[in-house]
Amino acid sequence: MPLQQGLVQVYTGNGKGKTTAALGLAVRASGHGLRVLIIQFMKGWPNYGELRAVKNLPGVELRQFGRAEFVDRNNPDPADIRMAHDALQAAADAMARGECDILILDEVNVALDFGLIALDEVLRLLDAKPPTMELVLTGRNAHPEIVRRADLVTEMLDIKHPYAEGVQARRGIEY
Ligand code: ATP
Ligand code: MG
Repeated sequence: MPLQQGLVQVYTGNGKGKTTAALGLAVRASGHGLRVLIIQFMKGWPNYGELRAVKNLPGVELRQFGRAEFVDRNNPDPADIRMAHDALQAAADAMARGECDILILDEVNVALDFGLIALDEVLRLLDAKPPTMELVLTGRNAHPEIVRRADLVTEMLDIKHPYAEGVQARRGIEY
């Protein structure tokens, strides 16, 4: 049974938990036989745990669009811009083909904030969303217009993070 009503969700804010919230949703949806497509913007590093784990999650597919390196906000690589547009195209194709019940655009808010993609391009995706498809946009600094258009917006509040105490990213926790 596909979704009867698909909405637009945004997970934003500076606190930890945005990408993992989206992955948690994917796990839940998989348990109900829903098809989930996760498109990761600005990520190409092959060691994310989720990249391995989705292979064991029925109906869930993850595609990375990015280089393995961090994107330089002030001087993005042409490949960063190209791959962010490839990600948008993959999202548009998935919508046109009705490829999934839940479409997760991980870090799309950051790609927009960094200027890799334009607001209009993201809004066009929102306009094209099939009524029965859930669309989830994650990443810091969500654009106000996207927040306005969304049905559900959660802001992760950074109260404490061990990073501030010098704790490096941990395997299985941060990646
Ligand atoms: P997660 O992937 O753990 O759910 P996130 O998606 O909310 O985190 P991002 O903004 O995408 O976080 O940050 C990328 C990386 O930085 C992740 O490895 C994340 O765990 C880590 N991180 C998240 N919040 C903070 C923070 N407040 N300070 C330092 N590092 C953080
Ligand atoms: Mg994230």
